[in-house]
Amino acid sequence: MTDVAVVGSANADLVVEVPRRPGGGETLIGGELRTLPGGKGANQAAAAARSGAATAFVGCVGDDGNGAFLRSRLVDAGADVSALASVEAATGTAIILLTPDGENSIVVSPGANHAFDLDAAARVSSVWEGAPVVVLSLEIPHETAFHVAEAAAAAGSRVLLNAAPSVLVGREVLQHCDPLVVNEHEALEVLGASESDPDADDYARLAQRLLAAGARSVVVTLGSEGALVAEGSAEAPEIETVPAYRVTAVDTTGAGDAFVGATAAELARGRSLREAVRFATAVSAVAVQRVGAQSSYADRAEVEEFIA
Ligand code: ADP
Repeated sequence: MTDVAVVGSANADLVVEVPRRPGGGETLIGGELRTLPGGKGANQAAAAARSGAATAFVGCVGDDGNGAFLRSRLVDAGADVSALASVEAATGTAIILLTPDGENSIVVSPGANHAFDLDAAARVSSVWEGAPVVVLSLEIPHETAFHVAEAAAAAGSRVLLNAAPSVLVGREVLQHCDPLVVNEHEALEVLGASESDPDADDYARLAQRLLAAGARSVVVTLGSEGALVAEGSAEAPEIETVPAYRVTAVDTTGAGDAFVGATAAELARGRSLREAVRFATAVSAVAVQRVGAQSSYADRAEVEEFIA
């Protein structure tokens, strides 16, 4: 029995520390190359599994060394990878430059993630269709993600859409999202608004606009400020801000994914959205104190100890 099906991307994160961002035409010497497991979907699945949910990861990797590496790391986290296909393409790769200013520069080559088309989703629909909670993010073809949202909702699943990387999302998709999870920037993009929008710094108002645009519930993550949860009607929503834990962040890569995976795991346990967000806030607070994305995620017992 699957509690949480995460449909999304898997990437090998190739990480190099550099003294600064290189300029055009410039060659810099960086530190040692590290290959870490990443990709929004795989990270979210690892976090959900480590949070104690029976989790299946659904997606595509290449038939290559990085693909085998990502598969084995998901297995280590406790995720079911029977719906993770190996295809004839390079495994998705993220090239990450870690700069001392903490504003990492990232280039993603989607590779095999782009092979997760409607046919690929249909081949493994028995894994995601009707799972109690289905998690989606947008490093796979949007057409596939939006189709899965609709089909999973029709089959009775609770759909969590993490609209990242951000795009404009229409009502026909938002109406299935319970919740839609976005950060500040993604909230604007989903609405088709820009950073100059008068509500750009008013997260409660943005969440209310996302409810009005069709989302059934909304979580806006606010980094070290925590997360805002909005539920109910767009006219009179119930809004609560869950503060982040005060910790010393070492590397925030994958914090949002840890948050999404943990939220999904808690929803699958029957917790309310606010309760789920409180737990997810702790999971991501533990994660930001360690380097890496998946490699920074703690098991449930450790998170419970952190909360206590
Ligand atoms: P994203 O990486 O998707 O932009 P955020 O940066 O908003 O996501 O982080 C997601 C969650 O991780 C936040 O809601 C918060 O709970 C937690 N978090 C992120 N940064 C910190 C931090 N510096 N200290 C404590 N918690 C953090």
